[in-house]
Amino acid sequence: MNITVTKTQNPKSKPDWNNLGFGNIFTDHIFLMNYTPEKGWHDARIVPFVNLEFSPALITFSYGQSVFEGLKAYRTDDGIIQLFRPANNMERFNISSRRLCIPAIDEDFVLQAIKKLVALESDWVLSNEGTSLYLRPVAFGTDERLGVRPSETYLFMIICSPCGAYYAEGMSPIKIYVETKFVRAVKGGIGEAKTGGNYAASLKAQAEASKKGYSQVLWLDGREGKYLEEVGAMNVFFVIDDVVVTPLLEGSILSGITRLSAIEILRDKGYKVEERRITIDELIHFAETGSLTEAFGTGTAAIVSPIGEFGYNDIKYIVNNNEIGKVSQALYDELTGIQYGKIEDLRGWIEVVSDDVIG
Ligand SMILES: *Cc1c(COP(=O)(O)O)cnc(C)c1O
Repeated sequence: MNITVTKTQNPKSKPDWNNLGFGNIFTDHIFLMNYTPEKGWHDARIVPFVNLEFSPALITFSYGQSVFEGLKAYRTDDGIIQLFRPANNMERFNISSRRLCIPAIDEDFVLQAIKKLVALESDWVLSNEGTSLYLRPVAFGTDERLGVRPSETYLFMIICSPCGAYYAEGMSPIKIYVETKFVRAVKGGIGEAKTGGNYAASLKAQAEASKKGYSQVLWLDGREGKYLEEVGAMNVFFVIDDVVVTPLLEGSILSGITRLSAIEILRDKGYKVEERRITIDELIHFAETGSLTEAFGTGTAAIVSPIGEFGYNDIKYIVNNNEIGKVSQALYDELTGIQYGKIEDLRGWIEVVSDDVIG
């Protein structure tokens, strides 16, 4: 399949690079392709960023048949633009799609499309410390009807959004609220798919936690309400008596690429890393005895987010004196070092976006 490119005649003026925030500004172009049962995925095109028009009966509006991904393009000090493990995002996109009955994409083809789009938008990829171009592939059903069944037609798109350093004033520990009333996902549900439904389920708890002064929610499993799952849009890790522990993936937790990378890096650094079930009672016990020396979240947006406080049943538990721990810092330095080309990539995680893919 060819990708046709229509360049914008009216490039946007560039934003204030020091106040980008996250996900507020979009570049000049988007990638689109359509799916029909007859043609499969077709009409791959890069076009100027435009609003799209849909019937009010679009099935995705009512029934949420959509999946997405999130990855970043980074510019190194040498001026090279690179992606971090993008093939894993493509693979996960298809895992999510399968769960939502969305037809699979050609992973290699879409990765080429990402590179072509990023190369075209290269003047939106800054080399400023901590900035990156966030890429958001999305697919959703486009049938126009109210009957509940998988859509027959789909749209796939990739949006690009320049974003600033996640921590404007440097990495700092966050406060987490252990949610005991609402659940995000259950085994057998859609928790391991990257899909809007999981976020819809999380909004109420997130809003209530924010009111109490917490920045994120720590989810417990939806069946027994006792096993730790994840934090907002991040996987979670605990350092307990020098062993790094992260919840086992059993169907309700998203398999984060940062999580996977963190496990490998920490093992290479000589840490013992266990993927296992861990209960909230265990965590509280280890917090009280002092065995819990660090906790942190991992995800593409923040990379590593140290946790300085847990709120659980009206009691506050402070972790590591509310300071950044050495495991969190070492992991953050290694991951961002590889992403920004400051540390040599020995694991084949980096894919360079070369200018000649503009075509
Ligand atoms: C995207 C996401 C993560 C983090 O995944 P990464 O691949 O590390 O960015 C974790 N949890 C949820 C619910 C997510 O949507």
